[in-house]
Amino acid sequence: MKKTTLIIGAGGVGRVVVHKCAMNVDVFGNIVLASRTKSKCDIIAAEIKNVTIQTECVDADITEDIISLIKKVNAAIVINVALPYQDLTIMDACIACGVDYLDTANYEHPDEAKFEYKLQWERDAAFRKAGIMGLLGSGFDPGVTNVFCAYAQKHYFDEIETIDILDCNAGDHGYAFATNFNPEINLREVSANGRYWENGKWIETEPMEIKMVWDYPEVGEKDSYLLYHEEMESLVKHIKGLKRIRFFMTFGESYLTHMKCLQNVGMLGIEPVEHQGQKIVPMEFLKTLLPDPASLGPRTKGKTNIGIVAEGVKDGKKRKIYIYQVSDHEKCYAEVNSQAVSYTTGVPAMIGAKLMLEKKWYEEGVHNMEEFDPDPFMQELNKQGLPWKIKEL
Ligand code: NDP
Repeated sequence: MKKTTLIIGAGGVGRVVVHKCAMNVDVFGNIVLASRTKSKCDIIAAEIKNVTIQTECVDADITEDIISLIKKVNAAIVINVALPYQDLTIMDACIACGVDYLDTANYEHPDEAKFEYKLQWERDAAFRKAGIMGLLGSGFDPGVTNVFCAYAQKHYFDEIETIDILDCNAGDHGYAFATNFNPEINLREVSANGRYWENGKWIETEPMEIKMVWDYPEVGEKDSYLLYHEEMESLVKHIKGLKRIRFFMTFGESYLTHMKCLQNVGMLGIEPVEHQGQKIVPMEFLKTLLPDPASLGPRTKGKTNIGIVAEGVKDGKKRKIYIYQVSDHEKCYAEVNSQAVSYTTGVPAMIGAKLMLEKKWYEEGVHNMEEFDPDPFMQELNKQGLPWKIKEL
């Protein structure tokens, strides 16, 4: 009997995952796409010509609903590309049904702008008991950046001392202000305090307090700001000997000015406010006003470049390397009807699931990307549309 792959979330990333799974249908078997709004699943399903994609409606905030769906379609794996708020309900449904799980972003509570692995890692014992695997953060960052670190560790260093993760999106969509993925998740991440890890301690900064200019290959020099980013939480556990890890993301002046202004007037608030006799959450209202990230695809030009710079010691000598991947928004759109931010997230989600189904990456329990042999993943990146490069610095 053919296995069934259940994809939950029909947004920008979900679209890429469906396209890419369909291109690897021999591994993924029957492909089912489920989301809150079934019509969005149907639009994506209609884009796929080589196989029929079954579509379903699910409220992934309700564990019982997910359990019924997993049983109905007889899923072998669930690829969660809904929102981080649904991570725990979907994980719990996978435990109840004995089905493998993968996501691209760590759990965030809707009422608290804070994301961390704690509650997902706490499910490790239940995953082991159920005899299933959970792969956390199999997007680009987290995801590929973790695999780049593991690859550097395996092939280039005896000990890595410092890592800088460098994320540049030099895409231009022509709007004065828009976010490339879910506005709520994006703006919560960017407007939060920065944080990096040094000598065993987390050091907190004001939002956008630390800035550097980095010359991104194929893109050029860009202002890059220190942010907290979730892959650091697992990398400090798994990269032995690490003394410092930081994460930088590029932002243009216009983006930052808009964000500051929205923040100053309270539009990034996640607490309900009274408005003409109704309660509204400012951030949710802002999401209604902003362009749907999925609509940016056909308008976005330019490139992304995401990578890591690792510095450390090999055979007694200092060494510094840069591993990076460049994607072109227009090329991604031409291939799967999505811009590069969704593409660079959806392709690694598909690869992670592929390696799990092929049992090349398989261990019961809840795991992060850098715990596995990076080589098969790095080979798949080259094959599946995300070729990478390495430079000695
Ligand atoms: P979108 O907002 O475009 O899509 C999310 C989808 O999930 C929508 O179709 C939405 O349905 C659906 N959804 C939301 N809530 C529920 C629910 N309760 N039940 C069922 N479906 C639901 O987001 P993206 O595609 O841009 O992002 C998807 C995920 O990828 C997010 O978790 C994001 O954080 C992560 N991500 C990870 C990155 C990485 O590099 N690791 C980078 C970028 C994103 P509806 O349309 O009806 O609202």
